[in-house]
Amino acid sequence: MTETTDSTYAQGSASGVPLVRALNVTKAFHGNEVLKGIDLDVSEGEVVCLLGPSGSGKTTFLRCINQLENIDGGRIWVDGDLMGYEDKGGRLHRLHDKRIAAQRREIGMVFQRFNLFPHMTALENVMEGPVQVKGIGKAEAKGAALELLERVGLKDRCDHYPAQLSGGQQQRVAIARALAMKPKLMLFDEPTSALDPELVGEVLSVMRELAQDGMTMIVVTHEMSFARGVADRVIFMDAGVVVESGPPLEVIDRPQHERTRAFLSRLH
Ligand code: ADP
Repeated sequence: MTETTDSTYAQGSASGVPLVRALNVTKAFHGNEVLKGIDLDVSEGEVVCLLGPSGSGKTTFLRCINQLENIDGGRIWVDGDLMGYEDKGGRLHRLHDKRIAAQRREIGMVFQRFNLFPHMTALENVMEGPVQVKGIGKAEAKGAALELLERVGLKDRCDHYPAQLSGGQQQRVAIARALAMKPKLMLFDEPTSALDPELVGEVLSVMRELAQDGMTMIVVTHEMSFARGVADRVIFMDAGVVVESGPPLEVIDRPQHERTRAFLSRLH
């Protein structure tokens, strides 16, 4: 891949460049290199599933995209926006918190644990971001939140508190809450791995619909049927590198690398 400078990438996805571009991203924790030069382009509307053994760096990579972690080297752009700023010497620095908050508004993130506000109803949870962060009027935010709760099949639960909802329902509220900010990109970090098996399907089906509606998504998951059926591309990571990447039917069903084969055989 040719080196892309900040200025050549700055036009954003309208010019046909990827919505997400990661170039040679590195990240270490206390000298332990967790990401060893990750390259990834994600086009608008594309669904990419990240697979790999525990500890391979998948969550860290998602957190870097969202600037929950600072990268040590490389660059990440989302919709043409560099995550960080470059000084005149070409060194990358963390942006001002306000600027990071503005960039994060473009990115929805759904975590393994649902992280809903426990003292707020489902409806209030979904309204919170638009009202508090975007300054949208309560009536408008309520209308939009109800539509989103309907989209995730929970309009009739809008007045329930998180503790009154199942894990699957809470995760669907968390998805609606992320969507309420009208993100350009959704990041999912093992969104079903904390759920009882019988609740996994309802969350995956909401994610499947979101994908069909054209949302750009990066999903860390061990759900092979989801990856096979929904992903445009599957990335297999191990020990901080991308080992292989391609359409799900290639990577999952005809893996080229021994490490991918070993990982997949352990899942069955
Ligand atoms: P995965 O999502 O593939 O399971 P992670 O990105 O969670 O992998 O973790 C990759 C490695 O980075 C692991 O060895 C983990 O212990 C380490 N790690 C992740 N976050 C931190 C942190 N905040 N401090 C120290 N080490 C971390």
